[in-house]
Amino acid sequence: MIVGAGLAGLACARVLSAAGRKFTILEGSNAVGGRVRTDHVEGFLLDRGFQVFLPAYPEARRVLDYDGLDLRPIYRGADVFVKDRFHRMADPLAHPLTAMKNFRDEIVSLRDKWTTLLLRKEVFGLRQPPRDLGDMETEDYLRDFGFSETMIDRFFRPFFGGIFLEKDLRTSAAMLQFLFAMFDRGGSALPAHGMQAIPNQLAVALPPGSLRLNAPVSGVRAGEVTLDSGEVLHADHVIVAVSEETAHRLLPQSGMPAPLPSRSTTCLYFTTDELPPGDPIIHLDGDGRGPVNSVMVLSRISPHYAPPGRHLISASIIGSPSSTELEQVVRDQMRRWFGEHTVAKWRHLRTYQIRHAQPEGRQLKLGSGAFPAVIEPGLYRCGDWCEDVSINGALISGRKAGEAVMRALGEPIQD
Ligand SMILES: Cc1cc2nc3c(=O)[nH]c(=O)nc-3n(C[C@H](O)[C@H](O)[C@H](O)COP(=O)(O)OP(=O)(O)OC[C@H]3O[C@@H](n4cnc5c(N)ncnc54)[C@H](O)[C@@H]3O)c2cc1C
Repeated sequence: MIVGAGLAGLACARVLSAAGRKFTILEGSNAVGGRVRTDHVEGFLLDRGFQVFLPAYPEARRVLDYDGLDLRPIYRGADVFVKDRFHRMADPLAHPLTAMKNFRDEIVSLRDKWTTLLLRKEVFGLRQPPRDLGDMETEDYLRDFGFSETMIDRFFRPFFGGIFLEKDLRTSAAMLQFLFAMFDRGGSALPAHGMQAIPNQLAVALPPGSLRLNAPVSGVRAGEVTLDSGEVLHADHVIVAVSEETAHRLLPQSGMPAPLPSRSTTCLYFTTDELPPGDPIIHLDGDGRGPVNSVMVLSRISPHYAPPGRHLISASIIGSPSSTELEQVVRDQMRRWFGEHTVAKWRHLRTYQIRHAQPEGRQLKLGSGAFPAVIEPGLYRCGDWCEDVSINGALISGRKAGEAVMRALGEPIQD
């Protein structure tokens, strides 16, 4: 019995399914995907919070069919807003001509460009977050590595801050190295039909009848699961594949410490019929004036994100500000970035505030070892908070829980 049909739960189910084991997944919501969900609104595809997929993720390569996802690449680089205009920071290997043209752009020093190449060399070949950096934080690491404060503030803070969902760059340097290596090797992309295509692909391979949606679980112990409805189900092996907060509530017997408050994010979606000029590239707040950290024209990456003749723009904020004037404040910033005339045509579609977007603790202490999958005989856990906080980490942790069940059954692990 698996509780939760996020990526970790689905990856666990994949292992059991490959071995021909019978199981049920109990999912509390109305669909699979967990934090990787996409809503269909007025013909637009709205991912629940701005997110991207890194095709180089090793575990994702193992378990996903990339052709089926129809991945649409995002430009390798960023348009960074500094001193009242955008500056293109292009990956010199992917876009050598643009990089050459901008070689003397004053916002990044030649020394920082050189140090970036050294970091690429440093992380070359990395396939998982290295464990030898201890609990070193990203900001300290970048400084020690030789980057200037200007480069950290203008590029690393908005780019990796937007991924870590914190701009102090307190997150483990091991995670920075790993993600830098993933971007370097494979860039980033979106599935043509929205991020939820990723969990959906894993879900269609489930044995018929193995998934129960709208089945929230209120209690778990070895051999037994209680649903909110009061129904009690029995199974020899119970795998809890929920977020850290929920796991803490469902598994008091595991002795796991109370989680630190989660990292949150806010995403405002706008639509327009006039395509803003440019490439399928991320726009970053290099001045740090905010509140918007990044902007992406999603329909430029994949036209399926918007109905014909329309365009979809996401504006992402780190944290979840409670201002009633948020849309107005965002529009003010967008006018500075894209001009009065352009932004006047943007219509607000929807705002997502994701309060529990990423667990905090696991981001800080990657060096200190993951939560093991086995809690006690017959009771297991998985989720990004057990491994590392990413699509890749969630998939790995789900696989490890599935493999732990197979070991307990004394059966070989199929793949
Ligand atoms: C806005 C945002 C942006 C992100 N951006 C990126 C990115 O760009 N790249 C990247 O690699 N990662 C990104 N991540 C992180 C990544 O999405 C997560 O690490 C990963 O999806 C976690 O998967 P999971 O299966 O561990 O947990 P979850 O996705 O949280 O799945 C848990 C599942 O359990 C279910 N559940 C919870 N409680 C119960 C209950 N009581 N009973 C039954 N079911 C229950 C939930 O409904 C859910 O389906 C982002 C996350 C967010 C939110």
